[in-house]
Amino acid sequence: MKFFMGILLAVALVVMAFCMAATHFKKHNLKRLIQIMLSIAILIVFNYEIVLFLKNEQGNLLAHSVYFIATDWMLYYMLQFSIEYSGSNFDQFVKRKLMLLLLFADGVSLLLNTKFCHLFRLHPVTRYHGEHFYAMETTPFFYVHYCIIIMLVTFCLTSLFYRAFHMPRFYRTKYLTIAIIMVIIVIANIFSFKQAIDFSIIGYALEGIALYQCVLIFTPQRLLQKTLMVISQDMPVGLIVLDIEGEVLYSNCLARDLLNADSPLSNKHGVPFREWCREQYFSKAENTTQDYTFYRHAEKTILNIQFEILRDARGKLQGGYFVIYDRTEEINKMQEERFLATHDSLTGLYNKNQFCRKTRDYIDNHQDETLLIVCSNIKDFKMINDLFGDKAGDLILKSSADMVKSPENNALVYGRLSNDIFALLIRKVDFNEDRFASRMQEVSPAGMETEISYPLINYIGIYEITDPTVPVSVMCDRAKLAISKIKGDYHKRTAHYDEELRENIRCETELIRDFNNAIDQKQLKMYLQPQVSSDGRMLGAEALVRWEHPVKGLIPPAQFLPVFEKNGLISDVDKYMWETACAQLRDWKEQGREDLYISVNISPRDFYLLNIYQIFTELVEKYEINPRNLKLEITETAIIMDFDRQMELISKLRSYGFSVEMDDFGSGNSSLNLLKDIYVDVLKIDMVFLQAAQDEERSRKILRMIISLSKQLGMPVITEGVETIEQLRFLDQMGCDMFQGYYFARPMPVEQFERLYFEQSR
Ligand code: C2E
Ligand code: CA
Ligand code: CA
Repeated sequence: MKFFMGILLAVALVVMAFCMAATHFKKHNLKRLIQIMLSIAILIVFNYEIVLFLKNEQGNLLAHSVYFIATDWMLYYMLQFSIEYSGSNFDQFVKRKLMLLLLFADGVSLLLNTKFCHLFRLHPVTRYHGEHFYAMETTPFFYVHYCIIIMLVTFCLTSLFYRAFHMPRFYRTKYLTIAIIMVIIVIANIFSFKQAIDFSIIGYALEGIALYQCVLIFTPQRLLQKTLMVISQDMPVGLIVLDIEGEVLYSNCLARDLLNADSPLSNKHGVPFREWCREQYFSKAENTTQDYTFYRHAEKTILNIQFEILRDARGKLQGGYFVIYDRTEEINKMQEERFLATHDSLTGLYNKNQFCRKTRDYIDNHQDETLLIVCSNIKDFKMINDLFGDKAGDLILKSSADMVKSPENNALVYGRLSNDIFALLIRKVDFNEDRFASRMQEVSPAGMETEISYPLINYIGIYEITDPTVPVSVMCDRAKLAISKIKGDYHKRTAHYDEELRENIRCETELIRDFNNAIDQKQLKMYLQPQVSSDGRMLGAEALVRWEHPVKGLIPPAQFLPVFEKNGLISDVDKYMWETACAQLRDWKEQGREDLYISVNISPRDFYLLNIYQIFTELVEKYEINPRNLKLEITETAIIMDFDRQMELISKLRSYGFSVEMDDFGSGNSSLNLLKDIYVDVLKIDMVFLQAAQDEERSRKILRMIISLSKQLGMPVITEGVETIEQLRFLDQMGCDMFQGYYFARPMPVEQFERLYFEQSR
């Protein structure tokens, strides 16, 4: 029996020694406590080996004392452990010092027992077929030690059970294991007490190992499982785990939502998501990550799905899992951004870049087709926008976009290039110019409460792609340029980019280039055209520019001013002409002809490019002339473009003393109604405009109206373009005050003017 027990304890010792060595590598705040308890358990077991085999009575007595002392301390540390394990304070629970004192006293008493045998003594006995043992015989004082042990055990068990039932379920196992082993030790102790072999020793060994195992090794599997489950439930990705049969073993919240049978997600073939997962599982031999599109009713869902196959250590298939990330929002946003980068936000058509890109692709892939670039441009769109507001402007653009989109156009690519300019790429054979033009005239600000009392005209420019290597943006420019051919022609809506236009452009470029030194080389000349009263008296003159080109000869303003109007060079011309006129007035003043005036033209562009008020007042001061002698001709168009600002400027100029004339009245789009709001000194009517548009009778009627209205408003009228005596007669009859026209004289150089009129009056 001794031998059997000895072997058992030796094995226990080896296991404990292993545990002890292993604690060395563990990291735990209770590591030290576990090491102490393991050491004590080792001591107890080792000591008992001595008890078993030592034949010396005195030595055995000492070994017994050591055993009792060790159990004291084992229980002390067990108590400390059971209290501290859950983080509470040991001192709070029991009076630590008192207990230590008690244990020391008990320890000393037990040691003294080897000398005085006041607690127990040993006497040899023979048990188990003649084996020699020492049996213990206790004195009543031994019960003091016994009481201490019972007290410690009670404390320990109470604390352990208390903890066990107050801890989360997953930790309970640990406490209960330790507590149950302790109960076993107590029971074994009761039964082995005064017996030859104390079987409770095995309990101590088990307790030591259990402590190591429970505290340092054991991780509550279910806790782990549950924690992982909780974490995975609320993960921002979906998780689906399939078993070996491809059945869903586990799915988190998000994934359940996707698998939901009430409104199931399915792919484009109608395969429900759950079924799809199974198919993937059986068809995929390796791990994949990919975007897939699914539908819930008509709603599109884009999922990024990572599929992983699960295999065991030997590589055998165990199942698989899907990690699902919903990218719908992200992709929608990306698509929206891409859309905004390539499309016009108002009309939804391609923007210029995208139109050019798509057109380029088409041209490159269809070299054998004859293609056209067709551009549309709304007449006076800026003015319509100003007059009727941005909302009306937007509606007109949307309506234009609808027309451009119309499938009847057979357009291959279409887009909005800028403000009111749309472009289309169309095969020449598919393009019906007249029908397209009339369709584009149907543009209207649909949805506006009030009608727009303005004719909406859409001009169409057409460019046939003859050289596919030309950049698309240049092709568009050419189509747009074609439109410039229409302007001024009332009935025309479409125009082609052709050789003539190309030639015009070449000429324009030349003119601009040549203008560089025209002013410095005094190539610009001021011509004067007299303005006369009804009795033929010369009152003053209009200054009209001429360009004496060293190669091309005398160029009339109609040939170069429209070009300069476009690029702003006109302001240089005007500034030059104003200064020349002022210098001339100064000259006349010195000649004693302060009664004559000169009228100068102000281009609409000047209002944006120059500080008109400042320039004129400075000129008047510089040349010391009377502002009354300088008449300023402002066109109706310039006033309408920015009515309030222009009226303010006109009023400032008039208060300074300038005489302001409204030029070309009747040529623009103003209504007679506007007259009452415009405060100018003189109204200038051009006969040529009236004659061009209407029959003579009608134009006379209009003339009569304007003249009488103007007179009522206290504005004298000057008519220009008077070519015949008849015209002069009826104008005179109608009450026109002043005249200008070929009938009297053509514009002429200053010297000629002076010669003709100054000599005449002398
Ligand atoms: P406008 O200001 O209406 O000038 C009157 C134009 O009518 C002048 O043409 C003049 O020669 C022409 N004209 C005069 N009497 C008759 C007539 O009896 N019958 C016909 N058919 N025409 C007549 P011009 O000099 O060729 O000027 C054309 C336009 O160029 C001007 O029209 C004006 O708008 C512009 N312009 C001329 N010089 C200047 C200038 O220095 N600055 C600015 N901004 N524009 C100018
Ligand atoms: Ca004029
Ligand atoms: Ca005029």
